[in-house]
Amino acid sequence: MQWSLEKRPHTLAGLYGNPALKTYLTACAKQKSFPESMCFQGQYGTGKTSAALIAAQMMVCNNPDENGNPCCECAACKDIINNSFHRDVVMYDGGQMKKDDIIDTISRDISLPTRYDKCKVIIMEEVQELSTKAKNAMLKILEMKKPHVHFIFTTMENLGRNGFTSRSVQFNFQQAQIKDLMMYMAQLLQAEGLWDEAKLPKEFLYDGLANIAQNSNGSYRDAVQILQKCLMAETYTKEAMALNFNILDTETYVDILYGILNGNPDEKMLNTLITNDYAASFRMSYALIASAEQFRTFGFTTGSSYTEAAAKKLSSHPNFDIILNGFKNISLANKNGYLEKSDYILEVCDMVRKCKATKPANAPVAVRRIVG
Ligand SMILES: [Zn+2]
Repeated sequence: MQWSLEKRPHTLAGLYGNPALKTYLTACAKQKSFPESMCFQGQYGTGKTSAALIAAQMMVCNNPDENGNPCCECAACKDIINNSFHRDVVMYDGGQMKKDDIIDTISRDISLPTRYDKCKVIIMEEVQELSTKAKNAMLKILEMKKPHVHFIFTTMENLGRNGFTSRSVQFNFQQAQIKDLMMYMAQLLQAEGLWDEAKLPKEFLYDGLANIAQNSNGSYRDAVQILQKCLMAETYTKEAMALNFNILDTETYVDILYGILNGNPDEKMLNTLITNDYAASFRMSYALIASAEQFRTFGFTTGSSYTEAAAKKLSSHPNFDIILNGFKNISLANKNGYLEKSDYILEVCDMVRKCKATKPANAPVAVRRIVG
């Protein structure tokens, strides 16, 4: 089993981010009243499924504490933690459900009384994948309010205002911040007894985790997967991460982008950008360029002071518009969620060529000497 799944939190305390949801669920537990339907919306790896499972545990646990935290020991909790779903909590994947499945399975299930637990909880993941017919069948079920039944939907798409969101209490799951990802990984290492300079190099516990967090695309799941990979391969330094897994730090990306702007990127570095996990390197580079554009327009970024310094450096380069437009083109090509490697390489080479050919009149002397 994947480490990220084994390490799923089972209590609100173990769930990072989403403070509003935690406050809300705690209030529900204290009032002993949960909503008929909740909808958790956000990109992959932001903790929607973990939150849905914890919420279900809070609803059915036989021995919750005074704040409503589930005990994780009773039969109701164990059934959820072990992913058995043999009791009154069930979980479906929206991508696998047809209209008839919904009518046959769910509608019959909720018409019956509970068998084991205090209430029935129906978790449906990726509700955006339901066909129109299946969605309508599901909405009909939602309309027949049953006091002993609770629904929890998760979706990766912003559903806007539709039948599901208007009938549900809705929560948006934000991409994880760098510091939240680092705290989360630190907590996992502590739980494993690995938060110890005698066991892991100090450099890894600080710079290494920061490097992993920067490369996790705001996803707890990605962070845990990279962390596990580094631990198993004993890859602890920035250099080793770049060499073994193509995981680069922000500074390296800034250097590569600056090389492209000057029309003379380091060939080895450029290869790193367009090989292996090129989609991840695109995301990282584009995030930096977007901060630079933001800096040029507003005079500040929402990133760290390092990102701000990098944004200032990149955006003040006379060739900045060339890479800005180049990366916007790549982003358009990436619209359906899949980026062709060949499109990416062609566009990056085109940027290098254009930057090389430009000798902007207002370029600083040092830059003109390089491009000339
Ligand atoms: Zn329990």
